[in-house]
Amino acid sequence: MKIRNGFVSNSSSSSFIIVGVQMEQIDENYKTLCDQYLDTTGIDMDKFTEKICCGSIIKSKFCPSCGKSYDDVVGTINYRSLFENNNYKLKGIDIHNDDYGLIVGKHLSLDLEGDSVDVDILIKEMTNTKKKIEDLGFEGKVKLHCGISY
Ligand SMILES: [Zn+2]
Repeated sequence: MKIRNGFVSNSSSSSFIIVGVQMEQIDENYKTLCDQYLDTTGIDMDKFTEKICCGSIIKSKFCPSCGKSYDDVVGTINYRSLFENNNYKLKGIDIHNDDYGLIVGKHLSLDLEGDSVDVDILIKEMTNTKKKIEDLGFEGKVKLHCGISY
């Protein structure tokens, strides 16, 4: 738990509770997230497509190494870039990004200072969320992450 006490002088801070896994930031994980939770309707996918030949991204009409035409090289989607530009559009999953990394999971709507919580509902929600996150196949243990974001 990461809570800083005192001196909360503006409204830009907010508490969060998220059941999720701290995701290793590898390309395969970004692909999984985008494939499952991002509706790409209206997104210009060309912006996130790279033509890679001979180990580099081709930016001109021909690959400078082997001379292959740009049009003949199959494009690959840069999922990390797609994610970073559109993660606010992901539906059905919550992303929390802080100094410690990227946490993928589900926010619990609890007021840390005010709420009393039905434990049965909380446990059920946590169990369901845990399963859902585990099914995504990310490495790492599903945990309850909470704290205050500034
Ligand atoms: Zn080439």
